Amino acid sequence: MSEILLRVNGLTQRFGHGEHAVTALDHVSLDIRRGETLGLVGESGSGKSTLARAILLLRRPTSGSIEFDGTDVTGLRGRALRQHRRRVQLVFQDPNDSLDPRFTIERSIAEPLVAAGYGRADRRRRVIESLEQVGLPSDAAVRYPHEFSGGQRQRVAIARAMAAKPEFVVLDEPTSALDVSVQAQVLNLLVRLQEETGVTYLFITHNLSVVHHLAHRVAVMHDGRLVEEGTGEQVMTAPEHPYTQGLLESMPVLYRT
Ligand code: ADP
Ligand code: MG
Repeated sequence: MSEILLRVNGLTQRFGHGEHAVTALDHVSLDIRRGETLGLVGESGSGKSTLARAILLLRRPTSGSIEFDGTDVTGLRGRALRQHRRRVQLVFQDPNDSLDPRFTIERSIAEPLVAAGYGRADRRRRVIESLEQVGLPSDAAVRYPHEFSGGQRQRVAIARAMAAKPEFVVLDEPTSALDVSVQAQVLNLLVRLQEETGVTYLFITHNLSVVHHLAHRVAVMHDGRLVEEGTGEQVMTAPEHPYTQGLLESMPVLYRT
């Protein structure tokens, strides 16, 4: 049994007050082991991105805690928070959210390297290496986001996320905006990067058929709660919760196991 990298304890996130209050997360607890992929599935509005933001300490939860590598990081501030941030990264559904159109690809990929304290020459080298890792030519470094297709831009966003060698990456619907043919290539890339680096993933999607191929375990979220957890196989073939059964029934037959 490998070590727990991330442990979420009773995470609750409420927005607003009084009759307008929304409970986006309701006592969510989960563990992710080092080197594994946890697939987080749920329909739009179920709280997946809110959980991602809380886990990455981008928003303080209403209650509950987050442990990373054996340390409670929930209340980190200042220097300790900045140090923690180097160990985790986020890939958005839309690569344009992490790539500034005015910046060269090199500058975008180098940004987390600057934050991680890499010197100029090491940054250069690492940017080229990262581009190669995601299957892009090194001359992409001097070009701009608009010169690339959606799939290539997502590869750049992945290169940027992986550049400073994070231990944990949250992928929030990373292929949802891509053409189906390109989706499979990006999923294969993510699997290969994990094999090469041992990085741990939280892979968020509203599409069970996507995670089932690359997640070691799958958690199902509904209305701010985790309603089911198991291997992809268990969740796909023997769902226990009626909500998961509904998710499966709404999937194209093609994808069902
Ligand atoms: P998902 O990523 O699964 O689509 P979200 O985490 O984005 O779901 O949203 C979960 C719920 O929390 C939704 O009802 C959404 O409207 C609400 N929510 C998310 N962020 C905020 C916010 N900053 N302020 C108020 N409500 C929010
Ligand atoms: Mg979302």
